[in-house]
Amino acid sequence: MSIKLEHITYTYSPGTVYEMHALKDVDMEIPDGQFMGIIGHTGSGKSTLIQHFNGLMKPTSGKVRYNGQDIWAEKYDRQKLRSKVGLVFQYPEHQLFEAEVLEDVCFGPKNLGLSKEEAEERAVRALTQAGLSEKFYKSSPFELSGGQKRRAAIAGVLAMEPECIVLDEATAMLDPVGRREVLATVHRLNREKGMTVVLITHHMNEAEEADRVVVMDDGAVVMDGSPKEVF
Ligand code: ADP
Ligand code: MG
Repeated sequence: MSIKLEHITYTYSPGTVYEMHALKDVDMEIPDGQFMGIIGHTGSGKSTLIQHFNGLMKPTSGKVRYNGQDIWAEKYDRQKLRSKVGLVFQYPEHQLFEAEVLEDVCFGPKNLGLSKEEAEERAVRALTQAGLSEKFYKSSPFELSGGQKRRAAIAGVLAMEPECIVLDEATAMLDPVGRREVLATVHRLNREKGMTVVLITHHMNEAEEADRVVVMDDGAVVMDGSPKEVF
């Protein structure tokens, strides 16, 4: 897979007093299998940026390409794209809906049209990859610890069999142990499955472990290179 942004701008509430130029001419290419870290102050445009990766947000101007194809072209299947590029947000609570963990992770695959059995097979595989053992399958997502909740949310994304997983400060609010667990999970997916990973983080040590670090400031990419070059 590859994601390419060409001269992306995004303006919230254009033409009003609330007008906000959140992205200003961003160019970026994410190659297959890369582990990319994104850092930058609050309000620098990180969340706005990554929601362009899978068509959750439409750029005000510029092009987004997935495997070379313009994702905003008329007949492009953005529903499918959203399963290929999975987003995990800061508050996974907002991504967990069902009464039981296993059921929750089955939700996406069922929506893809898979049978109950196939969906469960995928969910079990995803939960295993995310590091949640069988004893949690029948738990309520809301009974889980912070780290376990994140891993349940990650499993929900993995059950869609994505090519790329994007974590938007998904490790914020976790204690160091929970953070380590979640990071270890995504590093393993990257190493062992070749999955492309994008990690938005406030922690320099997490960004340092990436192949590449992008620094955002005021809606623009101000640095882009290896952790060594950037730090
Ligand atoms: P980050 O994720 O780096 O904190 P965001 O992408 O959330 O940055 O925000 C970039 C800018 O856009 C900020 O100035 C923020 O206040 C503004 N912004 C974000 N979401 C909205 C929104 N829904 N409506 C208006 N402005 C927004
Ligand atoms: Mg954000």
